[in-house]
Amino acid sequence: MVTRRGSRTLGLAVLLGCVAVTAIPSAGGAPTDRGDASDARRVSVEVPSLDGTIRRVWIKESDQGGTEGVAHAGVTPIQVSGPVSNRIDLVFVGDGYTRADLDTFHQHVESKWEELAAVEPFLTYRDLFNVWAVDVVSRESGVDNDPTQGVVRDTALDSYFFCFAIERLLCGNRGRAYSYASQAPAVDHVVLLANSTKYGGAGYTNGAMATASGGHPLSGQIVVHELGHSIGQLADEYQYGGPEVYTGPEPREVNVSTYTADLMAAGRLKWWRWLGEESPDGGAVGTYESAYYSLFGIYRPTENSLMRVLNSEFNLPGREAMIQQFYLLAPPLGSVGGARIHGDATVDLGLPDLVGAGYDITWYVDGSEVAAWADQETVQLDLAGRHRLDARIVDPTPYVRDEQFRDGHMTFHRSWNVS
Ligand SMILES: [Zn+2]
Repeated sequence: MVTRRGSRTLGLAVLLGCVAVTAIPSAGGAPTDRGDASDARRVSVEVPSLDGTIRRVWIKESDQGGTEGVAHAGVTPIQVSGPVSNRIDLVFVGDGYTRADLDTFHQHVESKWEELAAVEPFLTYRDLFNVWAVDVVSRESGVDNDPTQGVVRDTALDSYFFCFAIERLLCGNRGRAYSYASQAPAVDHVVLLANSTKYGGAGYTNGAMATASGGHPLSGQIVVHELGHSIGQLADEYQYGGPEVYTGPEPREVNVSTYTADLMAAGRLKWWRWLGEESPDGGAVGTYESAYYSLFGIYRPTENSLMRVLNSEFNLPGREAMIQQFYLLAPPLGSVGGARIHGDATVDLGLPDLVGAGYDITWYVDGSEVAAWADQETVQLDLAGRHRLDARIVDPTPYVRDEQFRDGHMTFHRSWNVS
């Protein structure tokens, strides 16, 4: 879950609140057993594996770890693209990095961010993100149970492999991790990075946090998958962990459905706009049975999107949902008007870059389109007297087919009074 713009000022309290509230298992065949009389709750954690399969395990934790021992930490900006109010802020906290290891930590954060940002639509929209590294200093290098069980190290966030006896499950003290993360200028999603080259990680499916091994080149794929949940509000498309037959209601997530393709097309439901299209993760969009933890009675849009297996791509419905949420979370520029400028001003729209893509930009002077300025982000005025200048900016990406959404959230207007 991502802390929404509007409630951002509440910061950590909201973040922790979300995690606590949503720690109770949701639908889809999850165990509802709350355990013994203690405060222990079951939270679901996703475990990555090198072959791409994702395992979901339910762990019981009495709390997410105390926040004792949290010290003031430096914050290193890795990528700052714009103000936190219209960017998505990704915060990395390190564990098992001594003061002497901080350069290594920054290199790990940069390479992990590059790994995430290589996956579309993060690649095209990478300029909508700010990336921060919180320099948590540990007493010793490395984390527990690395490479084998029984190896113990004194680290700030107590991270360890073999969590719940699962070798690749990398757990840590989430309370302290969130507390450190809140020292960044803003927090939308937290990644706990362990100083290790061993493959592993974890995704807390209902919290805005994932863990990853800092020095392993593929360990960030579980983070991409978790961002599919937390940013894109996407469901899991794998079929294990729940009842054999899905009997619940139509899920609210856009990438799983009880409807067949025919029903979708007839009723303009779910991913009807994408049916039959070639998807970036391979194959055509259709209704593939098995998803959402069940084998039967529930469909996914494609064979193997990264909401089903790691080291893949989002499918078309998933990619559209991600882009839509980017615009909801990080409106790159508001529709504003009325600024006064001189007739010889240089006007720069200051748009975030779209990697490999561009905006449709239309300029108007006194209501008449200026064709020569089409798609220019910067124009040089040469106007005498009083005029009105307008710009209309649209992201025309073909990966969004919901035109109502494009009109409402991916189209911006700016106006100026020239005198
Ligand atoms: Zn998942």
